[in-house]
Amino acid sequence: MAIRRITKYGEKILAKKTKRVVFDEMKKELPALLADMFETMDAVGGAGLAANQVGLDLRLAVIKIHREDEDPLSIVIINPELVEKSGSMYEDEGCLSFPGLFAKVRRAAKVKVRALNEKGLPIEINAEGLFAKALQHEMDHLDGVTFVDRLPLLSRLKLKPTLLKLKAQWKKIDERKMKPETL
Ligand SMILES: [Zn+2]
Repeated sequence: MAIRRITKYGEKILAKKTKRVVFDEMKKELPALLADMFETMDAVGGAGLAANQVGLDLRLAVIKIHREDEDPLSIVIINPELVEKSGSMYEDEGCLSFPGLFAKVRRAAKVKVRALNEKGLPIEINAEGLFAKALQHEMDHLDGVTFVDRLPLLSRLKLKPTLLKLKAQWKKIDERKMKPETL
């Protein structure tokens, strides 16, 4: 297993719709890739990580939701599709590709998602709360959309100087090749 470098805002792969996974073609390399993605996400305390956040043009993501008094909920979604959504929530959101940045984003409160799991089997997920938020955030990534794109125009304009400053910092950090944990 290995921790992979997380792509940051401004890198082209984050703005690109990812390619659907042909499971049979990928099944040999998939376990190692998914293990790396979970390890990378855990190392920075993330709740979700999309393949393009580790530089891969693949429609898949991992999610890990920490819960009180229960084991974390870990899930792999391959070729996920949103089937239903309802309600609305407006909560703070962050992203591993935007370290240090948080903003309130409007999301559906409940979602139904169909995907393949790590074994290539079809799954249907009904989620609400943080889990629903993570699913929507990761599926957006796979469509080349980041949480900042979801903000109202005025908020985006206000954030622009902050983003430029952060972008310069991330660049320096990457140049020094520091471990992701130090972000
Ligand atoms: Zn993200």
